[in-house]
Amino acid sequence: MNETIRATDWDALAAAIERRRDDLVALTQDLIRIPTLNPPGEAYLEACEYLQKRLQQQGFQVELIRAIGAPGDSDRYPRWNMIGRREGRHTGPCVHFNSHTDVVATGSGWTFDPFGAEVHEGRIYGRGACDMKGGLAASIIAVEAFVEVFPDYPGAIEISGTADEESGGYGGVAFLAEKGFFGPPRVDHVIIPEPLNKDRICLGHRGVWWAEIETHGRIAHGSMPFLGDCAVRHMGAVLQSFEDNLYPALAERTTPMPIVPDGARQSTMNVNSVHGGLADGYDGFPSACVPDSCRMVIDRRFLIEEDLGEVKSEVTALLDDLGEVRAGFSYDIRDIFEVCPTLTEKTAPVVRAVAGAIEQVLGRQAEFVISPGTYDQKHIDRIGKLKDCIAYGPGILDLAHQPDEYVGIDDMVDSAKVMAIALHGLLYGDQAI
Ligand SMILES: [Zn+2]
Repeated sequence: MNETIRATDWDALAAAIERRRDDLVALTQDLIRIPTLNPPGEAYLEACEYLQKRLQQQGFQVELIRAIGAPGDSDRYPRWNMIGRREGRHTGPCVHFNSHTDVVATGSGWTFDPFGAEVHEGRIYGRGACDMKGGLAASIIAVEAFVEVFPDYPGAIEISGTADEESGGYGGVAFLAEKGFFGPPRVDHVIIPEPLNKDRICLGHRGVWWAEIETHGRIAHGSMPFLGDCAVRHMGAVLQSFEDNLYPALAERTTPMPIVPDGARQSTMNVNSVHGGLADGYDGFPSACVPDSCRMVIDRRFLIEEDLGEVKSEVTALLDDLGEVRAGFSYDIRDIFEVCPTLTEKTAPVVRAVAGAIEQVLGRQAEFVISPGTYDQKHIDRIGKLKDCIAYGPGILDLAHQPDEYVGIDDMVDSAKVMAIALHGLLYGDQAI
């Protein structure tokens, strides 16, 4: 092992975090009790003001930024974001910890109060405990301990609490990245404390393509369907073609990339919705009509080895084939959303720093994983043009969005130590591994 943080410094840092254990619990509880539900985007300002007060006491310059004009932003539900920056004694790199403040709906099945933040047997329960207020709190405690032990650090440290990750991040990280908050020259390294388990580093995610396919028909009286052309039957043929041709091909397209869970280690496609005929939600007596339109939304997740253009043409080729063999078949296809896969190299500085810190704190090698879905790293990569970004944080991924979501207190303490050592490595240029 090359030079790492000195043993005495490490002891001091670990002790500074241990001393803050109760503070870490209280901070997490406070954050969970602010019900930042998204949708619709409740209480973002309250969360930002809470974080602002806390970080200002630690010497951070804090900006609150509303994503005016972003999707979802309104006077009723303003998309507020918080970015705090603390300059070091002299010049150096900037390390940024980015957490989203929003949480998803509570759903049913809870035995704890979703916003009560009750502590039970070493865990804190509540919506957002693991995804990702526990991670946000751990990063704040890591930074506060670091600043106490290394008051003369070089460079700069940033912490952000951003809106709307659960709905695409357009009122949060994407908006801020457009304004230059998530890339050079302002920021060099980003850690996103999403719940990936305390010994795992998430290097990136698969790609996404959402599209809407519409099949066309001709309206006629339902008693004489032969006088019309049923768009829903045409869509049925599309689905059959996907079953016969597309799904078997996707199942064979696997990757050695360490995507978790294992089932996502291949190309996948979800049929998100199908609508045709009577209007959605209509519960009156049906009128006797042949549907002249049917729409289907597909959610295709693709591998880093695949090309987005080929992913799309694979689907349109099947639709074109149907046009050759099926009388009256015609379609339109409309792109809704696309994100290319993102992958940070294992040799990147932030990966090396966090992997080395995991080894030091937990005494075992870090596991590298790739997320099946996307998260805010996509905006940092694509808009911020910053590649040195990973997700690393406490909490068990499978608990995210579930009833009785919790975060383990020991896990938060451990990952705060990892974050603090990694921060040292990145600011002081340690060779972590
Ligand atoms: Zn999350």
